[in-house]
Amino acid sequence: MDIRVDEEICIGCGNCEEVCPAVFRLKSNDKAEAYDPDACDSAGCCEAAEENCPVSAIIIEED
Ligand code: SF4
Repeated sequence: MDIRVDEEICIGCGNCEEVCPAVFRLKSNDKAEAYDPDACDSAGCCEAAEENCPVSAIIIEED
């Protein structure tokens, strides 16, 4: 599973970090990043983060 955040779209709302802190965090430029995509399986919150992103900036690509 590959998780990416499209920084061109991200508005830095922080929802993904709140919903799924094991995988997402806000960087100093107020854009989110998926800093640990491998944690998606164990954390089980990546789909919820994707669904809660107000601008659909989170891209999940299944292997
Ligand atoms: S939820 Fe979406 S818009 Fe908000 S910080 Fe995360 S990626 Fe960016």
